[in-house]
Amino acid sequence: MTRQIGANPYPLGLRLAGHRVLVVGGGAVATRRVPALLDAGALVEVVAPELTPALRAQVDAGRVRWTARPFEPADVDGAWLVQVAVNDPVAAEAVSVAALERRVFCVRADDRNAATAWTPAVVRHGAVTVAVLGGGDPHRAVTVRDAVRDRLADGTLVSTGSLLSDSVVEGPVVNRAERDGPSGGRVALVGSGPGDPELITVKGRRLLAEADVVVADRLVPGLLLDELRPDVELVDASKIPYGPARAQEEINRILVERAQAGAFVVRLKGGDPYVFGRGGEEALACAAAGVPVTVVPGVTSSIAAPALAGIPVTHRGVAHEFTVVSGHVPPDDPASLVDWAALARMRGTVVVLMGLKNLAAIAATLLAHGREPGTPAAVVQEGTTGAQRTLRATLGTVADAAATARIRPPAVVVIGNVVGTLPPVVTAT
Ligand code: SAH
Repeated sequence: MTRQIGANPYPLGLRLAGHRVLVVGGGAVATRRVPALLDAGALVEVVAPELTPALRAQVDAGRVRWTARPFEPADVDGAWLVQVAVNDPVAAEAVSVAALERRVFCVRADDRNAATAWTPAVVRHGAVTVAVLGGGDPHRAVTVRDAVRDRLADGTLVSTGSLLSDSVVEGPVVNRAERDGPSGGRVALVGSGPGDPELITVKGRRLLAEADVVVADRLVPGLLLDELRPDVELVDASKIPYGPARAQEEINRILVERAQAGAFVVRLKGGDPYVFGRGGEEALACAAAGVPVTVVPGVTSSIAAPALAGIPVTHRGVAHEFTVVSGHVPPDDPASLVDWAALARMRGTVVVLMGLKNLAAIAATLLAHGREPGTPAAVVQEGTTGAQRTLRATLGTVADAAATARIRPPAVVVIGNVVGTLPPVVTAT
């Protein structure tokens, strides 16, 4: 079969929602292609004698229809697009012929010259999709796509916060004014991750690149702030004077005022915004002022700092639970909301945040309520950063050992048999 291969492709964005797309083949290529088709809302039908486990899971979940046999030309009937994902060139050509006869566009994973449609290399950035065709050279397409993706992610490609940020609120954007609030401003509470700047989420990094104003915590990785465009207003929340209560009011006021003035405000918080981060209060303050607010979860230090110290917070046969508690209030303080006696009775892992100052009282309370003094314990200071330090001890000795080693905040304390389960197999990258 001859096809004209010299002409330029004509780019299109196919809106496949509710339309049948036929995928021929059930192997690795089909497994990679099906998710984007589903994401586009296509009714995906796979024809193949066998499926990979991942595809079978899609079938079992009712997201994909499967016909368990080799391809027949009539399978193309009614399809809007055909994706050929078989290795055998004779079988692939049979699909191409059937598609051509029915005037259905056909993507060929095995032979781009035989295809009537090419799939571009894609980067999705919120509401924007960038699709790159490399003139028949997929490697060139991927290289250009990666360059665009990096520049979108660090904010150097587009320097206005408002242009790309349609997708902060999930779902279709119908009415921009309604979504953004009367002024167009809004707030995103974004988790920065525990310390390693690479442990922010993809979404968090994108929103950071789009922000007009960034209000950052003390525990936020400095390198993330280093990447901000020069025109971004950076408010250092840790430098706000007054006591903690007044300072929080002041932060809430800054978030609300900047958003009401039309800015996209990213409130960047260490770890996860809702783990002892007062993120809930900030969300409430925004809501009370009628400012649209969204949250982007983060990698929390309560799991990540132990992990990078070689401690899994759960481990098969060792711990079926982990509890994250704040130690900023001493156990005997009436203001404490933690049931330390119950914690002492549990067998799982206890992770204490903000607990250094009260570590002696915390350990004594757990011991007094029956936890074994020999229970392994560890303290991880500045976890996931280049300055990470780990101290290993037991529940009976950890408070003294931490004091002697001059462990400083930020640090997490991990108590339980998971400490020491792994040999030092996991190294920081
Ligand atoms: N929202 C944060 C926790 C804020 S409370 C999160 O999800 O990680 C602050 C406490 O977190 C610190 O006192 C310390 O106990 C812990 N912490 C934060 N970053 C840390 C790090 N890199 N290493 C060890 N502990 C950390």
